[in-house]
Amino acid sequence: MLNDETLRDGLQSPSVLDPPLEKKIRILHLMEALGIDSVNLGLPGAGARAKEDVLRLAKEIAAAKLRIRPNCAARTLESDIRPIADIVQAAGVAIEAATFLGSSPIRQYAEDWDLDFLLRTTEGAVKYVVSLSLPAMYVTEDTTRAQPEVIKKLYATAIQHGARAIVVCDTVGHATPRGTRALLNFIQEEVVKPSGESVRIDWHGHQDRGLGVANSLAAFAAGAHQVHGSALGIGERVGNTPIDQLLVNLKLLGAIDRDLSKLHEYAQAVSDAVGVPIPPNYPVVGADAFRTATGVHAAAVIKAFKKNDVELANQVYSGVPSHWFGMDQKIEIGPMSGKSNVIYWLEKRGISPTDELVERIFACAKRADRVLTDSEILKLCGPPK
Ligand SMILES: [Zn+2]
Repeated sequence: MLNDETLRDGLQSPSVLDPPLEKKIRILHLMEALGIDSVNLGLPGAGARAKEDVLRLAKEIAAAKLRIRPNCAARTLESDIRPIADIVQAAGVAIEAATFLGSSPIRQYAEDWDLDFLLRTTEGAVKYVVSLSLPAMYVTEDTTRAQPEVIKKLYATAIQHGARAIVVCDTVGHATPRGTRALLNFIQEEVVKPSGESVRIDWHGHQDRGLGVANSLAAFAAGAHQVHGSALGIGERVGNTPIDQLLVNLKLLGAIDRDLSKLHEYAQAVSDAVGVPIPPNYPVVGADAFRTATGVHAAAVIKAFKKNDVELANQVYSGVPSHWFGMDQKIEIGPMSGKSNVIYWLEKRGISPTDELVERIFACAKRADRVLTDSEILKLCGPPK
């Protein structure tokens, strides 16, 4: 299962705009279309606007009968937890309360917390969540830098008082795939099994070392039930695990079998809503992901297209089939191109590829220091001077 953090951790990115509600609702529907299992709607304790947006999104889930399951973040404070219960009452949907608390020695030192304080706070928060009849999802921040004995005690306390989901967090992007696997094995063996309860294990990773996707796949392999990510990896600092890349990998690994043809639309909708452009070389949904101007590459793709085989054309020079994710192969014309690029480009637009025209475009491309734009090529298609 996947939990989408775009509308919570994603909006904590220092570069984003907080989008208007209509755009958040559209993003919510695109998450649903991609079969994403759950969504963090925000931190309603953050203020009146945050609470209002979370309420409207929760009402949308109820009204549109969406399958996606909502959760909300909360510090371990009654003033953060209470608004979630108010929203549940007003919207009529169940919402998991994800109460989070720092767990690492570095955080304890900075905050002047000791283990007793952490245990008392955990107990108080989880009991309060349960007393409001909210499903309790207990989050230890900075789990990957915490001491094993400390996280064991914290989770045991949370589970004992009613938490039925625990979230193992790589808050600062510190973990490696091997470490992620070891940590999750530890959580299974030393925390969940001894509790005797059925507890969902979530993994929440960040991108500081660029290992978000690799760590998340390692977490799944080590038995995590749910992994968190955000569209385009937007989030605190350099961001969260990119959920779009997770979807692509899970589909290619055969771990999920669902229609992801709206993946590009989802990534673009988030990019537009938060004002963060998609880099051209971004995997799968970047503008260059399926674009080539290189002669050898283009020639192979064109031969595949001529066999009327889209599947073949989309895989002969790509590890990712573009049409699965709402993208198309694009053949461009530049200094590295061959004549087949030119002929294909013209034919695709219904322009007759005469020898004279092909030669003119080809010669121009060879003199250029970059790929020609469509309008430059169209101009060359006019009558010769
Ligand atoms: Zn995070």
